[in-house]
Amino acid sequence: MQIKCPKCSWKPQDDSLWTCESCSYEFQIFNKNATCPQCEFEHIDIYCLEWEGGCGLMSPYLDWFEGIDEKLLDINVKKLFN
Ligand SMILES: [Zn+2]
Ligand SMILES: [Zn+2]
Repeated sequence: MQIKCPKCSWKPQDDSLWTCESCSYEFQIFNKNATCPQCEFEHIDIYCLEWEGGCGLMSPYLDWFEGIDEKLLDINVKKLFN
């Protein structure tokens, strides 16, 4: 599964850092499931890092995962048959 901005297709790098909306701690948001490791604030919308070439706009966390709808569908289909 690939992670990229749904609006401009910018892809986060390994060293891309987001700032926690609650406590300003800097962390790699996609490695932490959008949850701040310091204050446990859960981010609903993720902004695109403009200073790394992105568009700077916010998008819902799950929209960053390309093809997640198909994957969820797969899981639901499997559940139906189990
Ligand atoms: Zn925090
Ligand atoms: Zn973007």
